[in-house]
Amino acid sequence: MTSTILAIDQGTTSSRAIVFSREGQALATYQRELKLFYPENGWVEQNPRDIWGDTLWAARSCLEKYPDISVIGITNQRETTVVWDRRTGEPVYNAIVWQDRRGTPLCRRLREQGYESAISAKTGLLLDPYFSATKLAWILDTVPGVRTRAENGELAFGTIDTWLLWNLTDGKVHATDATNASRTMLFDVVRQCWDDELLEIFRVPKSMLPEVRDSAADYGLTGLAVFDRQYLIGGIAGDQQAALVGQACFHPGMIKSTYGTGCFALMNIGGEFRSSRHRLLTTVAYRLRGVPVYAVEGSIFVAGAAIQWLRDQAGFFAHASESEAMAASVPDTDGVYFVPAFTGLGAPYWDPDARGAILGLTRETSKAHIARAALDAQAYQTLDLMDAMVRDGGADPAVIRADGGLVANALVCQGIADMTGKPIEIPANPETTALGAAFLAGLQVGLYKSLEDISAVWACAKRYRHSLTEDERQRRYAGWKRAIARVTEV
Ligand code: ADP
Repeated sequence: MTSTILAIDQGTTSSRAIVFSREGQALATYQRELKLFYPENGWVEQNPRDIWGDTLWAARSCLEKYPDISVIGITNQRETTVVWDRRTGEPVYNAIVWQDRRGTPLCRRLREQGYESAISAKTGLLLDPYFSATKLAWILDTVPGVRTRAENGELAFGTIDTWLLWNLTDGKVHATDATNASRTMLFDVVRQCWDDELLEIFRVPKSMLPEVRDSAADYGLTGLAVFDRQYLIGGIAGDQQAALVGQACFHPGMIKSTYGTGCFALMNIGGEFRSSRHRLLTTVAYRLRGVPVYAVEGSIFVAGAAIQWLRDQAGFFAHASESEAMAASVPDTDGVYFVPAFTGLGAPYWDPDARGAILGLTRETSKAHIARAALDAQAYQTLDLMDAMVRDGGADPAVIRADGGLVANALVCQGIADMTGKPIEIPANPETTALGAAFLAGLQVGLYKSLEDISAVWACAKRYRHSLTEDERQRRYAGWKRAIARVTEV
């Protein structure tokens, strides 16, 4: 057996495959962009055949170069829902993408009927169309003939991991892992099983559901016609959870935070499930040998998008990377705050009607001050989120392992360290999501003996430590809170 691993990373905008060495070095990468369809306002769909076809192409391209891989791991865009015919493998409808909002009326109805708290208590999720349940309910209720076929046991449901696994195994394996199951809103994350009451609420026949396995598990061999030879599939996790594993956040209090267009943060809270009191999500971080480890998850709607706005709407610079030199030309923001609430405010404020603002302008304010304020906003928003996580009592934050496009910006990273008071660690390998899938698969076949073994492979490229006095930190954060108060008043 060799020590290379193939990771499949099926995301919202692209389908990729990467071959990793045991040490986590990417040896080959193939990728295809994926189309999104918007058939109606608020609807977002993809073609499941394209998802599979592009993924297969990327994986085959990798295997042509590195045919001796030892195992395959899968990570995927979460919540996106596919229903297909078990006999023919033909999807009955397009994939309904996580961003799709068509489940809004059903969520409203269930809320009015008083189901919200029961659903949250079992799933750790908020009653929202984001998750798979209302997407699946819509397909069952709307596509002609589907409910009857489902009740006759002819149809299978899956998130994207399950759809890919089914195709990779020639229809032999219908399974998912606990992290993906935890995003369906049909799975009891405490008991670790599909929940009959939830299935009844969403009117989903149990026979459609995949078997739920550990995140590192035997998912079967690839079909004879899929690749030139058969490979074991040994690991599956949803994308954010895979990134947590790829960042080796295996102890309570370790946070992985991805700063892209928006920001997704997950904090490992250990083996005990806790409901959030701040509208954050509690989700399965990974499950090994039947034992779930939980994470609390929060997102920042606008992270890098604030820099994009300065570039595209305000014309401050031609490239996002120029924001750093511009902001560094002044020592601080001189009292300017940039609240990027373009689409409302998330945790812990939850004000969908709030809108963005730049406050504290004087005659002396320059573009540099405003750019610096936009970079600082990343730090304030991170602290807001981290505070909500802490107040939920999950764990004491220990470290933030950050990735995504924004971490190329040293001012952003230093700002986050200064404001949170926590060390910020940037990984040597930026492909944390795919790497997480590779780690899980490698664990299954013994390339890694333990999570400690994986932690030893994880390498830090850069570490930022806080350098502000506590007074200064409090002074700046108080200013941010005042700015937030202003945008929620209008
Ligand atoms: P996504 O995966 O959401 O598309 P990426 O992880 O590729 O996002 O990050 C892109 C985002 O990061 C963009 O919003 C861009 O404006 C921002 N960005 C990229 N490089 C820098 C930089 N050096 N400084 C500030 N922002 C940056």
